[in-house]
Amino acid sequence: MKRLIYKNLVSEIQELPGAGRLVLPLVQTGTVSLEACVGVGDKVTRGQCIGKTEAPEEAFLHSPLAGEVKSITQVVTQEGASAKTVVIEGDATGEVETLEPVTQDAAEVSAETILTRLQEAGVTPLGGNGKHRAYASLEPAEESPEILMVLCADEEPLLQTQRHILREAPEKVIEGATLLQRAVGAKRLVFAVSGDQTNLVSGETVTVEKKAPSGHPEILMGRMTGQYRLTEGRPRKDVYLINAETAMAACRAVREGRPVVEKTVTVGQDGAMSVVVRVPLGTPFSQVLEHAGLKAEDGDRLFTGGPLTGIAQFDAAAPVTKGTDGLFVQKGKGVACYDDVACIGCGQCVKVCPMKIPVNMMTRNCEFGRIQEAIDYDLDCCIECGLCAYVCTSRRPLLQYIQFAKKEQQKA
Ligand code: SF4
Ligand code: SF4
Repeated sequence: MKRLIYKNLVSEIQELPGAGRLVLPLVQTGTVSLEACVGVGDKVTRGQCIGKTEAPEEAFLHSPLAGEVKSITQVVTQEGASAKTVVIEGDATGEVETLEPVTQDAAEVSAETILTRLQEAGVTPLGGNGKHRAYASLEPAEESPEILMVLCADEEPLLQTQRHILREAPEKVIEGATLLQRAVGAKRLVFAVSGDQTNLVSGETVTVEKKAPSGHPEILMGRMTGQYRLTEGRPRKDVYLINAETAMAACRAVREGRPVVEKTVTVGQDGAMSVVVRVPLGTPFSQVLEHAGLKAEDGDRLFTGGPLTGIAQFDAAAPVTKGTDGLFVQKGKGVACYDDVACIGCGQCVKVCPMKIPVNMMTRNCEFGRIQEAIDYDLDCCIECGLCAYVCTSRRPLLQYIQFAKKEQQKA
């Protein structure tokens, strides 16, 4: 059985100096498209708001560079959707334009003030290819969660983004988490942290072990509450989860008035982490790879996120968004070709599944659209960790079968 172990941190976060052409979709991690508040030919400053909305669940978007708006056009995002997009050409001259800092003590500042500031400064649950939106709602809610969990470890083995952020600025992560706890009204604040970094946080902690999928949000939330969310709906009502980068961004938004204009990304190739780099939002993947000394060529696979649940990308010119945690290249010789081949009944998927699902039976039903039969084999218990597909002897696209079946289930 293959084992997936989180690797130790090996370097510092590098900075990619911003210059050139940035592509900024007005849908970053959610589904609501922002209204552009700039026009073609407008000059913009660093940190200037370029997209906003009345919808309370969506955060604004800001220009990472000083420059000029070259076009407003439709592009296909890394999730495969078409989105209205602002294209800016410029450089990182000048300071980032900030809002008025909020100086009140965390215990005194109102939840409304914090939530308004988060929206104005573009703070949304960052990373996770956008799926972190499913784990926390940074908008006024009728019901407060019991727990706010801050994931200071990484979800998948090759990723190192969150651990680097915690090591770089633990005090900002803690302050941001405290402000977020106040904003969402959670009774408890819990830091999920890898064993070698527990000294960096204080208060209640849960340790993320070395072996995947111990950093998976659903596993951690299940450990804290004794219950998995499963089909309860999103976001879960009793526990919200955000990561260290979101907490740091919240701290900077409130205390420094600084908007979100960059994203920290782990970049690597063929199962090896190469570098963790902070890049302006909208930077093309190809430029990030070049900074790391990598290139995606014909026949290679490029994907965002981690190796278990990442999303394959069809265009290296696509931009980094607030959802981009990882960017990896698999060279052609290492690319596994998945196909609808038959299951040989080896049982590896069943053995590895953290939810003890009869995966072979469940996915056979998913594959052929027999949704009720898949549910009878615990489709609803699947947390989409991707381990079964990783170990499948026949290289069946098990996670895709599962996601297809869940989409069909939602339609019914
Ligand atoms: S993705 Fe596969 S291994 Fe993970 S919980 Fe679902 S069935 Fe189990
Ligand atoms: S690992 Fe793949 S081939 Fe083996 S039982 Fe599971 S689905 Fe079938």
